[in-house]
Amino acid sequence: MHNAAYAALGMDRRYLAFHVTRAELLPALRGIAPLKIAGVNLTLPHKARALAVMDELSAEGELLGAINCVINRDGKLVGDNTDSRGLERDLRAHGVLVAGRTALVIGAGGAGAAAVVALSRLRSARVVIANRTARRANALARRLAQGALRLTRIEAVGLRELVNSSLLAEVACVVNATSLGLTGGAFPHLKYDATPRKCFFYDTLYARRPTMFLAGAIGARRKCADGAGMLVEQGELAFNLFNGVRAPRGVMRRALMDALGRTR
Ligand code: NAP
Repeated sequence: MHNAAYAALGMDRRYLAFHVTRAELLPALRGIAPLKIAGVNLTLPHKARALAVMDELSAEGELLGAINCVINRDGKLVGDNTDSRGLERDLRAHGVLVAGRTALVIGAGGAGAAAVVALSRLRSARVVIANRTARRANALARRLAQGALRLTRIEAVGLRELVNSSLLAEVACVVNATSLGLTGGAFPHLKYDATPRKCFFYDTLYARRPTMFLAGAIGARRKCADGAGMLVEQGELAFNLFNGVRAPRGVMRRALMDALGRTR
């Protein structure tokens, strides 16, 4: 989708994919400045470790404790994160209304943090983080509650606790921000039928077919969307940061939807 935007703007730039292992991450990032690379996107599992070699960190990167973009600003590496804004934009595009309501985020990694911040910016009154490792959910809730999100109450529970929880009856939106589903796996702790009929299910994952998480929502006749829209939105924001020009609206979305074989 980045290359489609370069082509549409007539820019002589290319976006390339590199497979970088954990051990190679820091040397690869140190190569950005001498190789005159304009910018780099990072995905899991690199988003937190990359902070170690940044010369500067945006306020958003600091808040989330993870970055998905590295911008080469005259040889200085600036870490930033467009995931939260990307998700916020896509939730708005889907007409998801959480203002004054409770939302549930499953997952407490980088995408989980981005989802909590997005839901808080959409003025959720309360966001509950459910994670397999409850300790990690607690730590994230504490960190974000001390940050810029004071208008939203942020709580944490273990994923198993969801089964017997009355919480589901109150939620306006459930976001899956785990990597569960990348390699199969379901959500036995999530009782879709226990949520209100208008509850919206959003999976940060995207695939050619409905993800495991969304299959449950579809079965319970709840509205839902996968993370393809978030991918486009975070990508457009990253394009602006890397290139100093705005991505042509619609071009990146068309390129991604074509690649996923979807009607737009
Ligand atoms: P991460 O930091 O590695 O966190 C992974 C999360 O998944 C943790 O909360 C982890 O729980 C949980 N998890 C992993 N395996 C699990 C299992 N078998 N059962 C229950 N929970 C499990 O990863 P991330 O960077 O946050 O990314 C998470 C997802 O978001 C990925 O699927 C990624 O593709 C997606 N994402 C999408 C976009 C987009 O633009 N659409 C952008 C960013 C991320 P523990 O803490 O217990 O290990």
